[in-house]
Amino acid sequence: MSLTVVGSVAFDSVETPFDKRERMLGGAATHFALAASFFDEVHVVGVVGDDFTAEHEGVLTAHGIHIDDIEHVAGGKTFFWAGKYHDNMNSRDTLDTQLNVFETFAPKLSPSSQTSETVFLANIQPSLQLDVLDQCTNAKFVALDSMDLWINIAKDDLLKVLARVDCVILNDEEIEMLTGKPTSVSAAQALLDLGPSVVVAKQGKYGAGVITREGSFWLPAYPLHEVNDPTGAGDTFAGGFVGYLAAHPERPVTFEALRRAMAYGSAIASYNVEEFGTDRVSRLTGPEVVARVQELEKITRFDGATQVDLRR
Ligand code: AMP
Repeated sequence: MSLTVVGSVAFDSVETPFDKRERMLGGAATHFALAASFFDEVHVVGVVGDDFTAEHEGVLTAHGIHIDDIEHVAGGKTFFWAGKYHDNMNSRDTLDTQLNVFETFAPKLSPSSQTSETVFLANIQPSLQLDVLDQCTNAKFVALDSMDLWINIAKDDLLKVLARVDCVILNDEEIEMLTGKPTSVSAAQALLDLGPSVVVAKQGKYGAGVITREGSFWLPAYPLHEVNDPTGAGDTFAGGFVGYLAAHPERPVTFEALRRAMAYGSAIASYNVEEFGTDRVSRLTGPEVVARVQELEKITRFDGATQVDLRR
């Protein structure tokens, strides 16, 4: 089994109220792949410039991630993003986005990427997501991320991709914006009518919910004492979530598998935000992931069967 992800491989400059870092390895596909590599063989499809060195490649290849489909553009510069977090660390301003080699990116999948059974279309132009989907000849489970920009300027293409995917993973504001519905639940229900059978509503530091026609499941984020850099939390969550499903290939996916996938996504994402960039997830171990999944289970379980004598 294998999993293909297409999306940004980037350099990120991040400023928080407490610290800042310049030009760290980042990008949606990078964060996703590092998390998903706990579960499956991952192929990254992306594009970089001359500034992307063997050292950067090593962060991915050290975890067995396939980088043959990361195209190197001679004379080009890698996609660059800069952001500054507000005091609550849950919202941020984008200070700079330099598309660079991403501007003319035309994803070309090698046979091994094309034949993956699981595909994640990270946040890129919906027309490119469609292009990738056309090349994936063996896809059994396709998940998609997007952002407000594409909802605003490429909604028709986005609706075309939505009609062809199994799962959508978006922030709750994005789901509400896309459907015009006022709550995560009503917006997710509306999205289920557009094609996907699974909708994940991410709620930043408050956690996430998964909604299907069968029901919904909600999980808080793992409570942390300290958050140092929330960048890539959503992509790391998606990597854990989709990676878990890729490794448990019962199709259609069961609701039980979706609940567990939520726990693995949340656990790995909680580690991601503890340190800047890819630092923490790069050296994260399987036992550490399992420990946090167990802790999540412990802190969210309650005895629903207990009878309480209510006074009215
Ligand atoms: P997240 O914090 O989950 O929203 O993901 C942030 C990551 O997405 C960073 O590593 C950025 O490099 C990347 N990113 C930011 N803006 C874009 C964009 N317009 N297209 C693709 N990737 C982006």
